[in-house]
Amino acid sequence: MFIGHYGASFAAKRFAPKLSLGAYFLGAQLLDVFFSIFVMVGIEKMRIVPGFTQVNAYDLYFMPYTHSLVGSLAWSAAGAIAIFAITKKTPEAIAFGVVVFSHFVLDVPVHTPDLPIFTEDGAKIGFGLWKSWPASVLLELAVFGVGAAMYWKLVRPIGKKRSQLAIFLAVLSVLCVATPFLPPPSSPTSFAIQALFGYFVLAFFAARVDKPAAWLS
Ligand SMILES: [Zn+2]
Repeated sequence: MFIGHYGASFAAKRFAPKLSLGAYFLGAQLLDVFFSIFVMVGIEKMRIVPGFTQVNAYDLYFMPYTHSLVGSLAWSAAGAIAIFAITKKTPEAIAFGVVVFSHFVLDVPVHTPDLPIFTEDGAKIGFGLWKSWPASVLLELAVFGVGAAMYWKLVRPIGKKRSQLAIFLAVLSVLCVATPFLPPPSSPTSFAIQALFGYFVLAFFAARVDKPAAWLS
């Protein structure tokens, strides 16, 4: 899941608005940010297998640190502690931790059974919705749409802000529908670079759209 994760970021603003949407965008992809870094340095592993599922070509065969149930809980706790240390705001820290963990929860329906509960040798889960791109895209759009609607109701944008947010949401929706049809990356390293670039660019624009909220106020 890619764009659907941002549904959690938008929704978080409703409960804890004093953290930038940009920070919540990074939070929703924190597990994938570290997965990408870990792939580049060889700590976690994937293969590019064209046609692996209808949605993408990723055979994610070793990611116990970022994408196990226990691992993602640990990253969520670490994320919440970091945000609390910086902002001293409990609701924002908790919301950030929940957003980080939502990544794992939303990955479960779409991934093939490649998400470990704890260790690589133990049980792995994943309901495999990626085998059908219409079902995957529908689920992503639904999660994204619910969060985005909550955010829209919260900020009630007018004038220039309204068109900025409308364009941002439209771009995210197009990305959501289009990504299954893009050619697969040539190697795990190029996957990681593209993914990191995408996550940071989208977080940057999310922060811009969300102004005047400060990043870590
Ligand atoms: Zn992921």
